[in-house]
Order: sequence, then structure tokens, then C-alpha cells
Amino acid sequence: MQDKSLIYKRLYAWYESSRRVLPWRETEDPYYIWLSEVILQQTRVAQGMEYYLRFIARWPKVEDLAAAKEEEVLREWQGLGYYSRARNLHKAAQMIVESLKFKVERTFPQTFEEIRALPGIGDYTAGAIASFAYNLPYPAMDGNVYRVVARLMDIDEAFDTTAGKKLFHKRIEELLDRDNPRLFNSAIMEFGALYCTPVLGDACEACPLADICMGHAHGTAELLPVRKPRPKVRDRWFTYHIYLNDPYGKADRSTAGRLEMVNVFTLIRKRENPKDIWYHLYEFPCEESVSESGLSTEWSVLRQAKPVCELTHVLSHQRIHARFIIHKVQQMPEIPGTILIRWDDLDDFALSRLTLRALDTIQHKA
Ligand code: SF4
Repeated sequence: MQDKSLIYKRLYAWYESSRRVLPWRETEDPYYIWLSEVILQQTRVAQGMEYYLRFIARWPKVEDLAAAKEEEVLREWQGLGYYSRARNLHKAAQMIVESLKFKVERTFPQTFEEIRALPGIGDYTAGAIASFAYNLPYPAMDGNVYRVVARLMDIDEAFDTTAGKKLFHKRIEELLDRDNPRLFNSAIMEFGALYCTPVLGDACEACPLADICMGHAHGTAELLPVRKPRPKVRDRWFTYHIYLNDPYGKADRSTAGRLEMVNVFTLIRKRENPKDIWYHLYEFPCEESVSESGLSTEWSVLRQAKPVCELTHVLSHQRIHARFIIHKVQQMPEIPGTILIRWDDLDDFALSRLTLRALDTIQHKA
């Protein structure tokens, strides 16, 4: 292990001069830190900022979030993806508030173990809250930190395997500044986010850690960190049926490039499988086929119907091939689980990102 005090000195000097001003780094309120950490998982800072500011404006205290309806939280989360994060956030807020009834002097879980026990919180988020809110000596290993540690110590073990995680955790525990974990975690995360980035270019030449970085010395930095091979992406084929009950024929007309849908009704359905994507989000009634060539008879008939739009939607492990077909009907069909709503009220429901994309396309079709 390199000289730790030298690493701290150089890293902190860089951080002081180069860090971004981020609202969640300027507070020690664990609720705000927790919100930001959950929002920022799998999300860019610029996009996450908007959601963070909206959440704290709407639910300034954990009690406010706990009192919200799950549907409201999902609605506010709309567009961020990975909706289980929002559901866990809400569930955890309710658990915290419930426990406050018994611990009147406490305001938020204050130990790593208590924080880690909340739904949706893993080692990284627990470490981030414990160190940023309470300055407790726990590392916060996000993707940026894995990259910096892998390069600094020239570790070629895949960081996302069980053995790799153990090894990286051991190394970061050794490296952690126990006198100032808040500063250490903030600085190394920011350094990975802004300086020691996936594509290095000529960053190493002017890097404050260049002379003590083993990855740089061995010429391996650009190849690190190593990950295990990604699982195969699964293809799925969805046909969505947009039923329009349009007694006045308004869906045929358009105003300023938008379909006019006043007094038009449609059917939507909540996704109810907790093991599948978009759990508890709404969408138009959907039929799924396991392969494009193995279409059901019903689907084959529908194939002849011209879709109003076709989209490919890529998730981390799935690629959805979606087609949306409009059916103008006098009487709505009876489809289990659907509810009848005004087209104008679609905005009041938490919709999947794919549905939002389709609506955007359809609405602007003149
Ligand atoms: S020398 Fe290069 S690889 Fe090493 S820490 Fe600096 S930027 Fe990262």
C-alpha cells in the first residue's frame, strides 16, 4: 500500500480546488443525503438534481414522504427508471416514521447497521449516509470509487464478483481515512466522477496521484476496472392496444400538430407482477409474445393492423420491441384489470418510460 497520508493530501487538495457544489454534499441531514443517494443510483447528476430538488420541495421531511401515497411517489419518480428504488424509498420512509414513534429522541437511523437494514439500501448507500451524515468510518464504494481503487492499486480482479467485491472492500477499508471519512469518501467519489474517468485521454500526465498510481506505472490504468462478462440481453415483444372511445370523432382531428383528445376515453392497466419490469406502473393493455417468429394466432391477425408507432426500448437486461395499435370503438372491450379513464387524465398516473415515449410520438402525430 502506498503512503496513505500522501494520497489524502493530494486527493483533498484536488477536491478543494475542483469539486462541484452539489446540494446533497452541503448538508449533513441524513434524509436529504439518503434521497440523493437513491436518486443518483444509475442516474446522471444533471438529471438526478432535478428530481432531488422536486422531492425535497414536495416532501421536505421523512414524515412527509411516509405520508404520501405510493402512486404519488411513483408519479414523481416517472422517467428515472428502476422503479423499485422509488417503492423502497417510500417503504423505508414509512418504516423510519413508524420506528420514530418508539424512539422519540431519534430522527433517523444513526448506525451503519440500522441504515443498512432499510429496504433498498445496500452497502454503498449505507456507507454514504453513515459517512456523509455522521462522519462514521465506512467506505462508500460506487462505480467511480471502484475505478479509482482498481487503478491506484492495479487490481485486475473483476469488481462485480463475490471474490472481487471482498478484495476491493478489504483494500478500501485499508485506504479509508478513519479520521475524516466524510471528506475521504466525498473526495475519492468526486475524483472518480470528474478526473479518473473511464476514458483517461492524457489525464494521467497531470494527475496529482500519477507518481504513486500503480495502474499508471504499469500501463494498465485504461484497462481497469475489470468486470465480469455481462449477461445476455433478453428480447421481448409487446403489443399495446390503445382503445379510444371517441363519440365525437375528436381523435381524428388535430390542433397545432397535436391530436385533440378532449372527452376521449381509454383503457389502462396496472402491471401487477412484482418480479417483472415496471411493477405497479400503468400502461395500455398489453399482449406479450416470447419471440417474433412464435407469434400467437391472435397476434398474427393483429400484425395486419397498422401500428401507430413502433419502438425499441432498451433496459439493462432486456430489449423490448413494442408496437402500439389504436382501436377506435363505440363500446370498450372487457379486459381484466383495466380501468377506464379520460385521455386527458393519463398524466395523473405513473406510467412506464416506454408508455411515455409512445405517448410523445402519438401526441405529436398530426
Ligand atoms: S494516474 Fe491516471 S489512472 Fe492513476 S489515479 Fe491518476 S488519472 Fe487515475
